Amino acid sequence: MATPDGSRRIAKIRIGKHSFSYERGDTARIAGALQLAKEASMPVLCECSDPSPKLVIQSRADRGRWWPATWPKGGPAHALECLFHHPALADAEDRAARLAAIQILPSGFRIKSNISFSRPLARGEQPSNLDGRAGRSNAASSSSTTLLGALEFLMERAQLHLHIPGPKRGWGQVVELLRASLKGGLLGRKRLPEVIYVVPEFIFPHREHEKQFQAFWEPLVRNAQGRGTVPRFLLLCEFKGVEPGADGPLRASVGQLSGGIYLSDYLKDKLEQKYAIALAQPIPSKSAHVLGLFLAEVMDSGKLLAVDGALVLTSGSFVPCDSGHEVRMATLLARKARHFEKPMRPPYPNSDMIPDFLLLDTRPVRPIEVWGMNTPDYLARKQAKRAEYQALGMQLLEWEAYRGHRLPVLPEVDEPGLNLPLTKVKG
Ligand SMILES: [Zn+2]
Repeated sequence: MATPDGSRRIAKIRIGKHSFSYERGDTARIAGALQLAKEASMPVLCECSDPSPKLVIQSRADRGRWWPATWPKGGPAHALECLFHHPALADAEDRAARLAAIQILPSGFRIKSNISFSRPLARGEQPSNLDGRAGRSNAASSSSTTLLGALEFLMERAQLHLHIPGPKRGWGQVVELLRASLKGGLLGRKRLPEVIYVVPEFIFPHREHEKQFQAFWEPLVRNAQGRGTVPRFLLLCEFKGVEPGADGPLRASVGQLSGGIYLSDYLKDKLEQKYAIALAQPIPSKSAHVLGLFLAEVMDSGKLLAVDGALVLTSGSFVPCDSGHEVRMATLLARKARHFEKPMRPPYPNSDMIPDFLLLDTRPVRPIEVWGMNTPDYLARKQAKRAEYQALGMQLLEWEAYRGHRLPVLPEVDEPGLNLPLTKVKG
């Protein structure tokens, strides 16, 4: 079948002994066969590869339509030229998996954690130094995934992924929302409010800020005393970039914390690799921010040392975004006073698809896709997503960002503030 970009994609499926081809125009026969397969619980296989990857049957009972789709995470099992191929999990799907792993409890939530909040102190060792050994030897490589999942979850729980028209959200408001989101939260066995410090908005005089930090920090130090350990904590902040520190090592500027936080070359390289998109944005700026969650220690000098970290790019009003293109789209939507959502999980039942944004003030809610690339893999994914939106009966608003097209004209507002977000945190 020909795709809008002119390339040809193949899709041959097998149900029992029968083969069907979309290229031959078997669409109606396929729909009938899929319905029978569904009723008889027969597997639907794609013939693009050997062994044949399984497909999932999706339906919209009220319309009597049936279609095959890629299993969640099954995309890479299909041949490159197959209609059902898509590359390994995209960012959004990775995030949905991280969020789904977080347990919702009657009393709040629990984030599974491999983070250790105390580091054993070797005999004669100074609590911390800047050569990066602390970062390399003590932070499990996956602690940054825990940090990223925790940061994304807290942002979602604080509803930063929702944009409601009105005065622009500032850091002061974001801090309040994030602090409220910690309530009832556990990170492993630790109560989140006790181990996470949200860097507040500017406090004057600065002494007041130090007092606040000490009030948070001292119980952790008391707890570690006599155990021969160095306590660690989490620092949630607006990350404003890395600069050479006055005394040599690298220093990250984090919100209103005047001393910033020190990091090793090792951690800086790691952040640059893992969060290349967030760090590619010119920050600080009015139209984009980066939120950071760092695992940190206090050095004997009293300065803060980051041991590990995770970063999330946001728009100017702190809506999470997955690319610079998405920041531009979010900026347009905010400027036009639109009510929108950056969905953090799949909003549609029986589909793992996650739109880049959802316009909540149109009726029905309109999904938005920002197409950011034109690699073969990406185009295949785009084609599959377009087909799925069509099958769902959704009218997609698209922006071909990679071609340098102008931002699209937005549809009129139908129902300001009427539609509720499609995705929300349970509990
Ligand atoms: Zn296939």
